[in-house]
Amino acid sequence: MIKKYGFQLKGIHIHRTSKTRSLEVYEKLCVYVSKIIKQENLFLEYIDIGGGFYGHLKEKPNYEDYIKVIYDNLQVDKNIKVIIEPGNGVIASPVCFMMSVYDIKTLNGKIVVIDGGLQEDAKQLEKYITDNGGEVDTWFITHPHIDHAGAFEIISQNTSIKINKIYMSIEDKDWYLTNEPSRTIDIEEFFKAINQENIAEKIIEPQVNDIIKIDNITAKILGTKNPEITTNAINNSSMVIQIKVNQKKILFLGDTGTESSEKLIKNQGKNLKSEIVQVAHHGQAGATEELYKIVNPKICLWPTIDWIWDNIKDGQKNAGTLKTMETRQWMENLNVKQNYLAQEGIKSIKIF
Ligand SMILES: [Zn+2]
Repeated sequence: MIKKYGFQLKGIHIHRTSKTRSLEVYEKLCVYVSKIIKQENLFLEYIDIGGGFYGHLKEKPNYEDYIKVIYDNLQVDKNIKVIIEPGNGVIASPVCFMMSVYDIKTLNGKIVVIDGGLQEDAKQLEKYITDNGGEVDTWFITHPHIDHAGAFEIISQNTSIKINKIYMSIEDKDWYLTNEPSRTIDIEEFFKAINQENIAEKIIEPQVNDIIKIDNITAKILGTKNPEITTNAINNSSMVIQIKVNQKKILFLGDTGTESSEKLIKNQGKNLKSEIVQVAHHGQAGATEELYKIVNPKICLWPTIDWIWDNIKDGQKNAGTLKTMETRQWMENLNVKQNYLAQEGIKSIKIF
């Protein structure tokens, strides 16, 4: 047909999306395209192999393996340009999380931390940061409860770790003490940490709808503190952050409660829609079903350990008073494809 209409074929694209991403797929593609070029006696300028490679995962083929297979099996004229599009493999951004610890590494290896977990989690997080260059580019703290800000309080005192920017939406200390006096010790420790000279100067208070760019990641602030909400005050004051990476959105709700869910729905509506959601308040009695319906996630990140996940009491499943089962049912109704649990340890999720 090409010859009949007088077109000239400049190149061939052999993009294939394969589930396995195995080397055999590329081998077969290269053998096949070589055969066609020979059979049809084509003079091409280029062959575009496409992408779909693994990045650098243990026990998976690496770039060199792919290139070798392509080189060995592409039997064509040496002047033909071979194009590969490693996109996914290169910009896949691993997201690790533990109990309330979310860490995102950008394309250039910058570290972004959301919360950080308990004081007990500090050692593990500190090691992770140190092993990855000892510098946190951006640290978001959703709210000052100890299970979210505890590790930050410890790490902020470690002068060998550099923290460049800290985003938090914080009330006066008195607001916390008045509205949640039972958390007085938490609050005192938190303010001690953020008032350290080297830390205080790094703190930025974002406004709703602010956009923060960090390499290939964009963070949009969908919600900040809510001084007028005084029931479940500190949870409802959670900053809500929507991270966009590779066109996918991840919504971090902190410990958003019923009242702040309603405010978020009113102010943000459809903007809340995200492929991935961090389930609020560890999956129990957090955000409302209505909010999750708008978010309509495919993947849930649960900062949740087993006894909360299964609502265990006295060794019995679903014998406690937690509302986790209800939240799990909502997610099932929404056809969530994957649940990542904190109890499974550190996880890397590749975001394509
Ligand atoms: Zn919490």
